[in-house]
Amino acid sequence: MFCHAPFMWRREFRFMRYDALKRASQIFLIVLLLSAAGIALILAQTLGFGRPDGDGLRPPGIVAAAWNRDVALISGHAGYDSGAVCEDVDGAVMLTEVEVNAQIAGLAAERLRRTGASVMILDEYDARLQGLRVAVLLSLHVDSCIDASGFKAAVHRYSIIPETNRRLLDCINTAYAAATGLPYHPNTVTHNMTEYHAFRRIAPTTPAAILEMGFLGGDRALLTEQSALAAKGVSDAILCFLEGEKDRVNERSR
Ligand SMILES: [Zn+2]
Repeated sequence: MFCHAPFMWRREFRFMRYDALKRASQIFLIVLLLSAAGIALILAQTLGFGRPDGDGLRPPGIVAAAWNRDVALISGHAGYDSGAVCEDVDGAVMLTEVEVNAQIAGLAAERLRRTGASVMILDEYDARLQGLRVAVLLSLHVDSCIDASGFKAAVHRYSIIPETNRRLLDCINTAYAAATGLPYHPNTVTHNMTEYHAFRRIAPTTPAAILEMGFLGGDRALLTEQSALAAKGVSDAILCFLEGEKDRVNERSR
């Protein structure tokens, strides 16, 4: 009797330990499965398998050329004035340029961040513009309330990187037109655009352009009700440029 008791106790203890281990491994397995499912969900979302957003646009996935690149967007007139102002017949303000710019800049930044880019939205006369070094800067504006339609973009007239800026301009003209369906409106590119103040503030080696995304008059529906399309145009233009630059770097190192 005396010699059996410790043996029984030890056997019971061993069973208990086995039970606890079994339960712990089951819990561990559940936690592992849950985290695997979580990781798969996050990966699927980042890779663009998410549901289309309210505008029927699929969120973009990670883009190698954009990954960890610094992109700056100027939300035209932000922190300064209203820009173009549309009034009704009684002179009441119906729409201001600054609010349209901000809406599209916000959506474009969201899209670009999903590709892995690091995006900052700047005010019109943001202090950070001074000597700014980024992969690309795009200033977003819209045109007046007249009944005209179309977009146009310009780069610095006295740029020291004219070829790079030309490639940026080509990307804007192709990608923005494709995403929005808007025609190119060339006859209204002004000195205000080619000698835009921000071009003189940033580092001269920073590729930069100013984009007039459409007219508040003729393109109002697109700019306000389908602003996600304009944002896609902006983001696609920047991705086109970054991808082109990456190919050029690869070519040079070959
Ligand atoms: Zn403007």
